[in-house]
Amino acid sequence: MKRNSKSFIPIAFAVIFVLSFLYFSLVNERAEPYEADSGYRPVMGTFAHVIVIAVEEKAAQACIEAAIEQINKIDELMSYHNPDSEISRLNRSAFENPVKVGPLTYQVIKKAVEFSRLTDGAFDVTVGPLVDLWRRAGDANTVPTQQQLQEAGSRVGWDKLILEDSEQSVQFAVDGMRLDLGGIAKGFAIDKAIEAIEEAGGLGALVDIGGDIRCFGKTPKGQKYWLVGLQNPDLESEEQILFTLKLSAGAVATSGDYQRFVLIGGRHYSHIINQKTGNSAEALSSVTIITDSATDADALATAVSVMGAAKGTELIEKSSSTEAIIISAAPEYKITKTSGAEKFIK
Ligand code: ADP
Ligand code: MG
Repeated sequence: MKRNSKSFIPIAFAVIFVLSFLYFSLVNERAEPYEADSGYRPVMGTFAHVIVIAVEEKAAQACIEAAIEQINKIDELMSYHNPDSEISRLNRSAFENPVKVGPLTYQVIKKAVEFSRLTDGAFDVTVGPLVDLWRRAGDANTVPTQQQLQEAGSRVGWDKLILEDSEQSVQFAVDGMRLDLGGIAKGFAIDKAIEAIEEAGGLGALVDIGGDIRCFGKTPKGQKYWLVGLQNPDLESEEQILFTLKLSAGAVATSGDYQRFVLIGGRHYSHIINQKTGNSAEALSSVTIITDSATDADALATAVSVMGAAKGTELIEKSSSTEAIIISAAPEYKITKTSGAEKFIK
């Protein structure tokens, strides 16, 4: 009897210990993950906005900072307007000599060339001289002459780029060429920011730069999916959001002529240029691409803006993991969707 009551004490302690361990691990499991929001940070001529879900506050903040750091770094490397960027350095001297660039810049240039090939030049990263010509035309309020278009056009063409993988160098075959990563750099920065968040242990996130986004993983409290509004290109309409897209993971990019354009003689000209004619792309008011990578979505949205609805849809239908929502020019605003687009519409 005596012996029994003595051994009861350590057993009781052991039971209490095990029960409290179980209790705390259950409570921890149920503990809400932390949601952090970067707010809107100016970058790439627009704003970056990052939302991160992580186990606790410090981890979420670390993810936000890692993402913003990547985005700023890519902006610094690839900005067309910053004379100190790697792209500006390359644009100044890549005709005279091959110019070595860092791994990120080389990676995005390789991707850009891949999309030029895939889209038969509808996407063309060498379109810089024509973009500049149209920008100056906007400032002077006169459309470029045929001769100006031809002259600038002679300095454009992705097939006049000489890339050397072993050196990670770029050279121009024609004097006066210029790379413009404006149609792909945002998507690339989004992908790198998502990678940084994953590496920093984020459970879920959404990265938005100027309306192009990518998301993955755990969603904010009370939300089954990540939700993305597709803006109505008809700015006079009362409905500002045309569709709400729902995603578990993936990227969405929109190219439109309703926000950024050149105004000449009261007429809007798109900031997207058809390299084959030198003219601005006119047929569409908005192109949205949904796919896995933001780089691909960004480049394809620009390309389809040049290709038009028929050819663009044909290209996007070839890939089972890529969808498009295309809206024709004003005043029709006719909507064309690829066959799998509907499943993303809420
Ligand atoms: P946004 O910048 O409005 O999101 P895009 O992603 O379509 O739109 O990028 C447009 C930018 O891409 C232009 O401002 C210009 O810098 C560049 N660009 C213009 N035309 C082309 C083209 N045909 N191919 C590749 N880049 C282009
Ligand atoms: Mg683009």
